[in-house]
Amino acid sequence: MGAPYYCKVLIVGGGAGGMFAAARLAQAGKGGDVCIAERGGRLGRKLSVTGNGQGNVTNSDVSAAYFRSGRPGFFLPALRAFPFSAAEEFYASLGIFLTGEEGRKYPLSRQASSVTDALRAFLERSGVRAETDFRAVRAAFSGGRFRVFAEDGREIDAEKLVFAFGGKAAKQFGTDGSAYALAEGFGHKITPLYPSLVQLKTETEPIRGLKGIRAPARVKAEGRYCAEAEGDVLFTDYGVSGSAAFAVSGAVSGGGRLEIEFLPELGEKELLSYLRRREKLSLPLTGGLLHNQLGRMLEKRADGAEELAALIKRFPLRATGSAGFDAAQVTAGGVDTETIDPHTMESLLQKGLYIVGEALDVDGDCGGYNLHWALASAAAAARAIAEEV
Ligand SMILES: Cc1cc2nc3c(=O)[nH]c(=O)nc-3n(C[C@H](O)[C@H](O)[C@H](O)COP(=O)(O)OP(=O)(O)OC[C@H]3O[C@@H](n4cnc5c(N)ncnc54)[C@H](O)[C@@H]3O)c2cc1C
Repeated sequence: MGAPYYCKVLIVGGGAGGMFAAARLAQAGKGGDVCIAERGGRLGRKLSVTGNGQGNVTNSDVSAAYFRSGRPGFFLPALRAFPFSAAEEFYASLGIFLTGEEGRKYPLSRQASSVTDALRAFLERSGVRAETDFRAVRAAFSGGRFRVFAEDGREIDAEKLVFAFGGKAAKQFGTDGSAYALAEGFGHKITPLYPSLVQLKTETEPIRGLKGIRAPARVKAEGRYCAEAEGDVLFTDYGVSGSAAFAVSGAVSGGGRLEIEFLPELGEKELLSYLRRREKLSLPLTGGLLHNQLGRMLEKRADGAEELAALIKRFPLRATGSAGFDAAQVTAGGVDTETIDPHTMESLLQKGLYIVGEALDVDGDCGGYNLHWALASAAAAARAIAEEV
């Protein structure tokens, strides 16, 4: 191997956060100083499949309630400095214009890959160097510089180092959790990791025979924290999936309690009156209200209309785990945010080192929040770095 390649700013990880950080640096006129070292053969592979391929890249409401971190409110300064309007402007500067409903924002093309393509083209035009198939396995700081070592022997030196290596979810996109070791090398601690936005495993006895049945529902979850979501629940042979279960999964992917409210559009009293009217007509109580199999299961477990109404409104189910990191969209937990400056994402343990995106112990709800966090944290780091290089 020859002498190490040198760049002023090295970004490890060419996913969403790494590309966003490079783009913000390029917009500050520093594109030629930036190199991205990416483990895979191309930049932005995960970004291209987000939002079922449509790219739910941000949300018009990015308030704190949609984010979590072990250090409460850690994400606030970065979110305040980079609200939805800044994200909208950023995407427009790349030629990507947003559309969407209920807060969720997508590119007009409804193709996540059009965002990746626009970013790749902008980075190339701005002189950002991409070093692909570069799996960073070690990083060190000495003599005022960082050196990052790749598995294949390549080395890159830099004055500033940005870790944008993602989390442990969806390892087919290069994120298997092994890169946390790079941060640990600088003394950073990794908080416990949980899959989030994932299908849930539950006790199976109460839901036997319901596989494949989907029902509108509101789901409450109580585990590492409490969460609630409305959408639908899809019963599987191992537990529950569907948008409502998926949305609360981070709370109980390590186990916990679920309470499913079927027929969320009805109040319990109204439901009870419907059940009583059917009772008078000598009809199966839940027929016409719920899917037959689901209704029969609930009827078997309840004694009389009143108990049945209560069960339909508060069906308890124990979550025992999840389908795991490989099936999850996001990692909850990550680099402990106690040792990160919330305004700049700079490490408090190693000056000149910045950590952004999912690598940090910050995760968001389903709805464009995780990509917004990748962008807001990358923007914070880029702002601080651009002032110094
Ligand atoms: C199927 C799917 C759909 C999703 N849909 C949405 C959505 O619609 N909206 C939303 O907000 N969020 C969505 N997410 C979550 C979102 O994609 C991530 O939270 C976001 O990409 C995180 O950005 P990041 O840059 O921190 O990490 P990533 O995008 O995961 O990028 C990390 C990069 O680092 C590279 N890397 C890892 N280790 C090394 C190493 N040792 N050396 C060099 N490079 C390394 C990886 O190859 C990867 O390219 C989705 C996730 C998945 C899996």
